[in-house]
This record gives sequence, C-alpha cells and structure tokens, in this order.
Amino acid sequence: MDDKYLNFDEKRMSIFNELVKRYWNGNLKDVDDLNKLADYIKNEYGFNDSDLPFIRDHIRIAMGQDPKGDEAFKDELDILKSSNSVLQPVVSKLDGPCKQCKNEHCDCCEIGKYETDVYRRLNENISCGYGVSKCDFGALADKIEFMPMIELLRDKVTPVYVTVAPAIVGQFGDDISMGQLRSAFKLLGFKDMIEVALFADILTIKEAYEFNHLVKSEEDFFLTSCCCPIWFNMIKKIYPNIYDYLSPSVSPMIASGRILKTLYEGAKVVFIAPCVAKKAEIKEPGLEGAIDFVINFRELKEIFDALNINLQELQDDDKDQASFGGRLYGRTGGVSFSVKTVVNRLEPTRVIKLKAQKVNGIQDCKKVLDGLYSRIKGDANFIEGMGCVGGCVGGPKTNIDVEKATKKVNEFGEDSFILTPFDNLNVMKILEQFNVKSFQEIMHNDNFEKILSRK
Ligand code: SF4
Ligand code: SF4
Repeated sequence: MDDKYLNFDEKRMSIFNELVKRYWNGNLKDVDDLNKLADYIKNEYGFNDSDLPFIRDHIRIAMGQDPKGDEAFKDELDILKSSNSVLQPVVSKLDGPCKQCKNEHCDCCEIGKYETDVYRRLNENISCGYGVSKCDFGALADKIEFMPMIELLRDKVTPVYVTVAPAIVGQFGDDISMGQLRSAFKLLGFKDMIEVALFADILTIKEAYEFNHLVKSEEDFFLTSCCCPIWFNMIKKIYPNIYDYLSPSVSPMIASGRILKTLYEGAKVVFIAPCVAKKAEIKEPGLEGAIDFVINFRELKEIFDALNINLQELQDDDKDQASFGGRLYGRTGGVSFSVKTVVNRLEPTRVIKLKAQKVNGIQDCKKVLDGLYSRIKGDANFIEGMGCVGGCVGGPKTNIDVEKATKKVNEFGEDSFILTPFDNLNVMKILEQFNVKSFQEIMHNDNFEKILSRK
C-alpha cells in the first residue's frame, strides 16, 4: 500500500480542519480556492496530479457531499450554502486504495466479511462505524455534516440547539467541564447545549411503564436499548421473530430533536455522537426531521482546533439537567440501572422482578439474539444491547479509551443532584409544556406518546 494512503483518517481530519478554517475565515469563496486547497493537500501528503480526483472527492465528503470521480470542482460551494441537510448514503466508497490493499478478506466490520458488505451494512445502519475507522486507507469515508450548518450558525435568526450524547464527558480533556463545553458551543453560534440524558430520563419512565405492562410471567421478556440503532436494526432486520419484544421507543437523541422542535418553533437541532451509526439513524424513514445534523466527537475536536477554541479558557456555564441514571446511558448497563430504579419505585412489591442482562459489542449481541431467536431464554427479562464494547463510551468516533470514558461517565452521573428521573424538575417542566399531567400519562397522552415512539 502506498504511503499516501496510510493513516488516512488523520489526513481526512486535516482536510476537514483546513476546510473549516478557510471557510470560517472567508478564504474559501470560489472554485479557485477549492483547487488551491486540493493542491495543498496533494503537496502536503505526497500525492501527485493523478490523485487529484481522489483528493477532490475527500474534500467533497468533508463538505457533506457525494464523491464525483473525475469531475472538476464546479458548484460545491453553492450547494453548501443552499443545503440544509446531508443526504444518504452516509458512507461513501472511493476507488484507489482497495486495488492496492493486501487485506483480501477485508473484515473492517465485525459482522461483515468483505468491503462491499461493510459499505452496505454501514448504510443500512447495522454496523457501528468501526468499518470506516478500521479502513484507514481512505477507501471508506462518512460524510462530515458540519460545513452545511455553518451558515445556519451564522445567520443568528434560526435558533440552533446542540444536544450531546451522555458519553461526551471527558472526551475533550480531563479538566474540561460540561459547562465549558456549553460555552464553546455558544461561541460557535449555538443557542444552548442540552444533555440528551435529560431525554433519556423521560424514556426511562416510559420503558419502566412498558416493562410493567409487558412482563407479567417468567417467560416474558423485554428488549431495549432504544438508544443504540445497531441493536435496534439488527433485531429488526436479522431477527424479525423477536422484534415484537423490542421497546417501540425512539432513541433519546430522536426524542431530543422532536421535543425541542415542538417547544421552539423553527429551531434546528444538532446531535454530538460517539459513532457513525447516529448519522444513519437521523435519516431513517419515520425518524427523519427530528435531528438536522450529526457531528461526532472526533470531528468536534477538529472543529475546536480549526477555530482556535481553547476550552480551558472558557467559563463554566453549568446546568444540572439530567439524573444520575440518565447520565449513565453513556455506558453499558446504564439503561438497565436506570429503568430498574424506576420499576422498583413504581411497584416495589412486584413479584416478577426486573432481571437485567447487559450485552455489548456486535459479536455478543449476536450470540444473545441467536439464543432468543431459537427461543432459548436465560434468567433475564430485560435485555439491554449496545453495538459497541462498553456501550457508547466505546464508540468508534470517541477521543479517549473506553475505561477512562466509563469512569468519567460514572463520575458525572454521581455529580448529579437529581437522583432519579422522577426527581428531575426539567422532566416535569417538559411534561407540563406538553400538557402531560402525571408520569403515568406519558403512556396515555397521544401527542406525547407519538413523539416518543417509532410509529
Ligand atoms: S475497504 Fe477494505 S479492502 Fe478496501 S482499502 Fe479498506 S481495508 Fe482495504
Ligand atoms: S453503542 Fe452507542 S456508540 Fe456504539 S453504535 Fe450504539 S449508539 Fe453508537
């Protein structure tokens, strides 16, 4: 494999960094400026003129657009200014590196064997995005969704909210607080940063009621987690005979977008994710429109770097938005812990107790689902699945290792003054705004139930 293709993910991030810097500072106005950028990349990384189509395509992908092969730059900047979404496919495939690759049984994806399989599964959202990360040669690349939102952030008319995955804690430095992250987002032009864990609190209550309703005998069981699209889509597409046991709830991310857009008319919502799969989830039929763009932790790090945002120097704009349990959704076992707490509070004398099994990593998810598919049920009646090892803290687009990230998520959870979702005043405020008069009414208020469901 030529050196120029090696460690390509870092090169891809440099392309993105240059794009953001140049566009933000007004140095990317026309086709000439785009060609200058392509030449800069060519010289910087030892490419030659024949590689320019490959470089141009990576620039397009970093702008959230599709590759165009041999075509010269034409209307990319006009498209950028007028687009307000990034379209499927989430992952693009480029020619070049595969021809030289010695990895003849390319197993980028844990459940797919060959490159075409990786590509297909990523776009069908049954792979977590490790395939894109493991192919570090530039053959597979997910579109980056930041550039198309820059004009929105600048217009100051449209309120743009950012909702952050619970796994974000500690991803941008040991001493960086969530309050400093909120300040950074406000500097970028966002109206506010909201923890997705707040919406996880609402879904915890919903899933606890669902569990109570559905699990009444030793044979019954309930499949969650609604927050991982990989687990959800594996069940839906590969194990249809157990699909009915799966929680019908949307993920906390989708709930965050739907709720915020209902509360703030005309608002746009951006989600900060640990993986590529979330980019595909927002484009799924029935879920589209809730979230406008997804940026992952790795990309966000590059944005802060390109725009010289030094998090350490920023003020601590802290807010306590979510409960202990809601914040634990960022790591495996968090959903089970949270729902169990609420089930016990709802029905302390329940005969059939919630017995949780947490399963993480695609291979282990597959094993458990194979068993359930063949009707081999273990002791557990609440089975929580997460596509990544360790849960979202182990996502393919995180910045720190999974052990450290788990510790950070646990500590941030313990810091919350809100013990359970029932004690969360922010949840009560949202319910009030939707005219939902009690926690139980979450299940019976048609409007609100619709917002939280995949129907
Ligand atoms: S997609 Fe697979 S075969 Fe192609 S370059 Fe990447 S690792 Fe090699
Ligand atoms: S476990 Fe979390 S990071 Fe991994 S694929 Fe699922 S949602 Fe994404």
